[in-house]
Amino acid sequence: MALKGLDIFKLSPKKNCKECGSPTCMAFSMKVAQGAVSVDACPYFSEDAKAALNEATAPPMKTIKVGAGDKEMSLGGETVLFRHEKTYVSKTRYAVAICSCMDDAEIDAKLAAIPKVDYERIGERMFVEMIYLNYAPSAGAEKYLEVVKKAAALDRVLVLGCTDVEVAKQALELVKDSKPILNGATPENYAEMSAVATAAGVALGVRGADINEIYDTVAALEKAGNKNLLIDVGVNSIKDAFATAVQLRRAAIKDNDRTCGYPSIVRVGGLAQGDKHLQAALASVFTMKYGSIVVLDQMTYAEALPLYGLRQNIFTDPQKPMKVEPGIYPLNGADENSICVTTVDFALTYFVVSGELERSGVPLNLIINDAGGLSVLTSWAAGKFSAGTISKFFAEHDIEGKLKSRKLVIPGKVAVLKGELEAKLPGWEIIIAPNEAVQLVKFMKDLTA
Ligand code: SF4
Repeated sequence: MALKGLDIFKLSPKKNCKECGSPTCMAFSMKVAQGAVSVDACPYFSEDAKAALNEATAPPMKTIKVGAGDKEMSLGGETVLFRHEKTYVSKTRYAVAICSCMDDAEIDAKLAAIPKVDYERIGERMFVEMIYLNYAPSAGAEKYLEVVKKAAALDRVLVLGCTDVEVAKQALELVKDSKPILNGATPENYAEMSAVATAAGVALGVRGADINEIYDTVAALEKAGNKNLLIDVGVNSIKDAFATAVQLRRAAIKDNDRTCGYPSIVRVGGLAQGDKHLQAALASVFTMKYGSIVVLDQMTYAEALPLYGLRQNIFTDPQKPMKVEPGIYPLNGADENSICVTTVDFALTYFVVSGELERSGVPLNLIINDAGGLSVLTSWAAGKFSAGTISKFFAEHDIEGKLKSRKLVIPGKVAVLKGELEAKLPGWEIIIAPNEAVQLVKFMKDLTA
């Protein structure tokens, strides 16, 4: 909950010395409350007061970093319950589960399938970012450690699902430098598990029979000084898992209960009990509410395409248009003499159009206009993609100096611009493209045949 200026003023030194740039401590406190200035701008706040302020102004949900190097990623850190209120900040990450109870052939096949889903959609790489390794005591520690070694070779963030303290310790010895997650704290073992996770410098997953047990265990871990935690919502039932995920998030954000404010692990494969369709539905549900890590039994393209599309829709910032950088994009080995095609900087338009143009194999220069990240018709209606803005963009970016071709293909949906563009860009031949991007392949081939 945000602090009021008066709360901050109570902790201030009350010297009114103006060294912070504000006329009084009260004025300074008001600015801190608004987030306009950091409390560090005053040299006289005591360390205790600063610590109390930092604690009070910290986000209700902790940001937990996992993975190392270029695989490092953030989980949690959310400040709102609904995306439209502001934005979500840490997207759901997907893991594929492997159990040491599986036979070697099955484990090898599951590991081999993980890198197969890897593609780009609107500038974002879509792939399985994590591997969840479940320890089955019946298969023995040695087998588990072998599985951990094999999975580590895939260079994904590992989640070690292991409640045996000794085995967890040995597994962490193998992979601790890659900063995996140890999902193994229970009400019975949390103290030992916390020591193992802290020694390895990794985040600890907490589980329990129900939300009350989870809460008490997290509170005990916090009291012992470990706040590098995640919460496993369990696999008792879909209803319990969903209720736990939602109640924890609500309590953290609405009630400012920081003991609930940790990222979650949701094992939808375990909840679906082998039903692939149910698993797909649950993965979607927990992407929306409120899975930080969603663990599936497998990730094929059939699962990935709708799921990653959903995630991208939910976790993009609704306050920022999805746009690409305006400029010249040479495609298919184009040079300065290649034909020019122009469209807007809306990311979806760019990726759809550039994909089709690449498929045509025709060398061309794709000129992306600054249209405020809007689609073709929307930007045209808003006056951001008109003959005037296109010709202005051409002048500002010296298109005529950089390219020798004087043939310009414009989107079919703004065919109305042809006459005006010819007047504003003398010497250019304006060609109207088809209405749909999918028709571009044949159109470009015919045009340059
Ligand atoms: S520098 Fe600190 S003590 Fe001085 S006026 Fe600003 S807030 Fe008050």
